Amino acid sequence: MRDAAPQTIRLADYTPYPFRIDHVELIFSLAPTATRVLSTLKVTPLQPGTDMRLDGEDLLLIRAAIDGAPVSVTPDATGLTVPAALLPDGPFTWECEVQIAPAENTALEGLYMSKGMYCTQCEAEGFRKITYYPDRPDVMAPFDVRILAAEDGSTPVLLSNGNPTGHGRWTDPWPKPAYLFALVAGDLVSVDDSFTTRSGRDIALRIWVRPGDEGKCAYAMDALKRSMRWDETEYGREYDLDIFQIVAVDDFNMGAMENKGLNIFNSKYVLASPETATDRDYELIEGIIAHEYFHNWTGNRITCRDWFQLCLKEGLTVFRDQQFSGDMRSHAVKRIDDVLMLRARQFREDAGPLAHPVRPEEYIEINNFYTATVYEKGAEVIGMLRTLIGPEAYRKGCDLYFERHDGQACTIEDWIAVFEDATGRDLSQFKLWYSQAGTPRLDVAEAFSDGTYTLTLRQETPDTPGQTDKAPQVIPVTVGLLGRDGRELAPSTTLELTERTQSFRFDDLPERPVPSLLRGFSAPVILRHEVSREDQLLLLAHDTDPFNKWEAGRSLAKSTLIAMVTEDTAPSEAFLDALTTVAGDASLDPAFRALALALPSEDDLAQTLHASGVTPDPDAIHAARQSLTRAIAAHAEPTLSALYDTMAVPGPYTPDAKAAGRRALRGTALRLLSERDNGDRARAQFLSADNMTEQLAAFSALLIIGQGSAAVGTFYEQWHEDRLVMDKWFALQVSLAPPEKAVRACKALAAHADFDWKNPNRFRSALGALTMNAAGFHNPSGEGYELLADWLIRLDPVNPQTAARMTTAFDSWRRYDTNRQRLIKMELERIAATPGLSRDVTEMVGRILAA
Ligand code: ZN
Repeated sequence: MRDAAPQTIRLADYTPYPFRIDHVELIFSLAPTATRVLSTLKVTPLQPGTDMRLDGEDLLLIRAAIDGAPVSVTPDATGLTVPAALLPDGPFTWECEVQIAPAENTALEGLYMSKGMYCTQCEAEGFRKITYYPDRPDVMAPFDVRILAAEDGSTPVLLSNGNPTGHGRWTDPWPKPAYLFALVAGDLVSVDDSFTTRSGRDIALRIWVRPGDEGKCAYAMDALKRSMRWDETEYGREYDLDIFQIVAVDDFNMGAMENKGLNIFNSKYVLASPETATDRDYELIEGIIAHEYFHNWTGNRITCRDWFQLCLKEGLTVFRDQQFSGDMRSHAVKRIDDVLMLRARQFREDAGPLAHPVRPEEYIEINNFYTATVYEKGAEVIGMLRTLIGPEAYRKGCDLYFERHDGQACTIEDWIAVFEDATGRDLSQFKLWYSQAGTPRLDVAEAFSDGTYTLTLRQETPDTPGQTDKAPQVIPVTVGLLGRDGRELAPSTTLELTERTQSFRFDDLPERPVPSLLRGFSAPVILRHEVSREDQLLLLAHDTDPFNKWEAGRSLAKSTLIAMVTEDTAPSEAFLDALTTVAGDASLDPAFRALALALPSEDDLAQTLHASGVTPDPDAIHAARQSLTRAIAAHAEPTLSALYDTMAVPGPYTPDAKAAGRRALRGTALRLLSERDNGDRARAQFLSADNMTEQLAAFSALLIIGQGSAAVGTFYEQWHEDRLVMDKWFALQVSLAPPEKAVRACKALAAHADFDWKNPNRFRSALGALTMNAAGFHNPSGEGYELLADWLIRLDPVNPQTAARMTTAFDSWRRYDTNRQRLIKMELERIAATPGLSRDVTEMVGRILAA
């Protein structure tokens, strides 16, 4: 059990650990409720005379010894202290044996069991649930592991980090922090392959799954090999052990984990077959396989000094996986996808009570800081750095980083210093991106006379919890200029905004230009620029920057929807014409066209309305979005119908970007056409589809138009034995239900025999899906809030991490009307008042309520 008064941990309080761990040996004797862990540490005191503090939680101490002599120590709730008086001044051996109960570990942190298989999750602070240890990332040591199989014969396969040295024996020569430790034991089968590094070393590759899933690993394996090659060619990074293994686990709190040489994955990001996985699933598998593999250098070989530096490994690794996916698929489409996600998750976070800097300065529970800000904004910061110094200097700085810091636990200061040293440039102002929370606003003013166009930019970052009066940041603003006829008058150039207000001149222009600002979304800011509809249409038709071409369409759609909500106007013909033209423009990538046809989400619209001082009405937003969808469907029907036919992909399913793009556009056409044909095409496609992408597109279209009930039954019959497909079945019925039916649908599914609420994927498929149904969740009766709160209270003692994560559904509560605010506040207070509430949820609810 944890202590009653949770402590705030501060970056400013960092002190190094006063001991060096020279070697770790772990011996596991596996048993479901009585696993024994014997750990032997070679320790060197760095400040003789200091007590040795070891972290430990929920451990039963059996015995402890120093240099072979038993010592008596008394554990407390969070670990144990060996008094300095018992410690030698020179190197010594610490030995201790503990007992743990993996079968009772429902929090899925430390050593736990998933479907009879033993597995671990140690980031951030799970290793302390396995043995007493200095569980902090700056303590790095080589590990030897020996696993003794469970006596019931359930664990023929015994895995850990590093290279194998015998059955159940592993040695990892690379010093690592405890959070990268992993153990897996069970009845698993592997799919094997190999990779030859550029220096000619042969690496064994193994993906471990439960028997029966062997046929679903090919794409993950292919993505792994492409990731390994890419890291060699783009970053000069070669793999460093003889074997690289991936294990797929059904019960997992997050996406995946980069344990050294033994990545553990949520099975949804490994297993794929054309029949069961969508194009989106394939894309995510590719990106996450790459992400975890890339951590081998950015995270593992060079790790974080403390958890405040989390973005050092996460922001950088996300940036690297984004580059990789862009190279594998399409940079334009990838950038649009990434910005969509950034705005939906990070801008939302930055605008509410949970806003925090990319490098936070304090926390109560570190698990609450695996956020969109640390990951996605962290990646944007790396992208801006690369834009500002250029790709060659960026590569030079990265090379220096790997050379200088290999084997170390580092800080953001170390990261910034390599780029200062590689370029000679002062990056102190740039560093503000790591310490100032909030999304900067960029106001734009223009002037034109005598062939000179002057662009004046003003930056302002709003107050966020605990932060006011923010200093101006360095903002790279990539700009191009277009002429009235759509020709490019000035190609892309990157302006560096460093002052609060700054003007930039463009001379010798034949006419007043139409600016294309923030091309490629060159900085994570909110642009406030009054653009006439005429200019937006011009950019949509002619911008050479694909991101801004898409952005022009998005702005038009957004202003159309906002006007529909606030002024009850009808969408303009010009907008509908332009959208139809883009949809049918065969010179454009189908994947891009699908993105151009997608409307802003209801949550995005609520956020935008709130930012402009209007209280969002979720029902009105839902209705406007539905009515615009119908208007587009009516206006573009012939084009959509033609696309539905021409975008069909002949031959057997392949997951490549080209085929996926065609299916995306065809799926969008189907969704719109189902508003016209009463679902006839969708019904036919649902029955005839030979891949999950097309089956799910049809299923979704039917659910949205309220014609899904037959398909719900058919789909269940077809797929009820496949957990991952059933997650989709649960999620779509809730997220796509009409607002007034969403809560009822969620309740019914939570009572379904296949609802396993202790499985995080399944829990998210029902309750997480409810929070995605904006108008359903925000039903004015408050029943959506009540249902979520009930379930979070129930889940908290079982799995606090997953419960805490989902409290973020309430973080936008201050946006809404007083009735909704009162209802949400009541639920937040009810959660907060629950006896024995976890530190995780206590911190989250406290921060959200403080808004
Ligand atoms: Zn990561």
